[in-house]
Amino acid sequence: MQISEKQLAQVNDRIQALLKADSFYGKKLREAGITEVRTAEEFLKLPFSEKNDLREAYPLGLMTAPEEEIVRIHSSSGTTGTPVIIPYTQKDVDDWATMFARCYEVAGITKKDRIHITPGYGLWTAGIGFQLGCEKLGAMAIPMGPGNTDKQLEMMQSLGSTVLCSTSSYALLLTEEIEKRGIKDQIKLKKGVIGSERWSEKMRTRIAEGLGIELYDIYGLTEIYGPGIGINCEHNTGMHIWDDFIYLEIIDPKTGDPVPDGEFGEIVITTLVKEGAPLIRYRTHDLCRIIPGECPCGRHYPRIDVIQGRTDDMMKIKGVNVFPKQIEEVLAQFPEISSEYQIRISHLDGKDTMRIYVETNGHVNFDDLSHRIAEKVKSRIGFTPIVKVVEIGVLPRSMKKTARVIDERYD
Ligand code: ZN
Repeated sequence: MQISEKQLAQVNDRIQALLKADSFYGKKLREAGITEVRTAEEFLKLPFSEKNDLREAYPLGLMTAPEEEIVRIHSSSGTTGTPVIIPYTQKDVDDWATMFARCYEVAGITKKDRIHITPGYGLWTAGIGFQLGCEKLGAMAIPMGPGNTDKQLEMMQSLGSTVLCSTSSYALLLTEEIEKRGIKDQIKLKKGVIGSERWSEKMRTRIAEGLGIELYDIYGLTEIYGPGIGINCEHNTGMHIWDDFIYLEIIDPKTGDPVPDGEFGEIVITTLVKEGAPLIRYRTHDLCRIIPGECPCGRHYPRIDVIQGRTDDMMKIKGVNVFPKQIEEVLAQFPEISSEYQIRISHLDGKDTMRIYVETNGHVNFDDLSHRIAEKVKSRIGFTPIVKVVEIGVLPRSMKKTARVIDERYD
């Protein structure tokens, strides 16, 4: 998907703003000898930006608009050291709300909906993004934030929430709680808007059927506004991306070259109109692909597939490249196991070992199931894992993104 003339002009405009502000990236561009971008070929020569670089700009090095125009900052989770701070102008906040409201509209959500928002509010962009879009659309926001499942379910019943916004793990937890308490007939949910976490088809079906709702995947990341830069439509053929605000490329994570539409690689995003902290060719490390062709809905926004994982998730085990998604697809063929699983990799006596933990109930022969799964995984990835079967409920459920792969080799 080549960059359009209009998008090129917008990128050039952002480059001029960065150079003029002499912000963190303005300096980088100047040092790289870049003064403008006029052609698609020139665009592909622009240097990438990376999360690690953004950390070096802490606290406000990314600020590209004058300080009096900055109305807010957000920060991405600093689990690995220095956080990244992203400044927003009023226009950035408004643009984000416009994109998010568009997401809700594409999902068929209207002013008459009551939107139950469970992602967290605060420094990170989740809850507040869902809220902005809801208010812009004119629907009723129920700003719950995460946690306190009793209160969530009580409010959901009293207020008749019609839309659930959450992570897939938390949606699953709520599904299980609603079933356990036998209150499904008192829940009015019709739709779920689920944050861009990698999740299996099995988990999706479990939540959709358990709650009796339609599910929509929303994409986004704090460095680029936050959630709301794309969502799937009613045809469920991938997420439409708002290319009037961002330009999205897919590159080979090893070489940095663009890959043809339809092939998997890393998502790279350029902001086209952002003022507070424009980013040029930002590497997201999300693995995905562009879906070629037109969507039956007739919308011309380009589409991307479900996020397949992180480029950093690519595991080399016994010399073989393995993606968690491959294991997930094998597990999905076993109806007797739950949608939760965990993969642990360690190094013992000079050899890599992989253990896969799955859950089932007591009516299943654990040994037989473990053999059958191990065989199927071997035929998919080329070596035999150790499969451990445990009771349903034993594996951790979390409200945040559940860590399903634990690599103990480098601890
Ligand atoms: Zn569509």
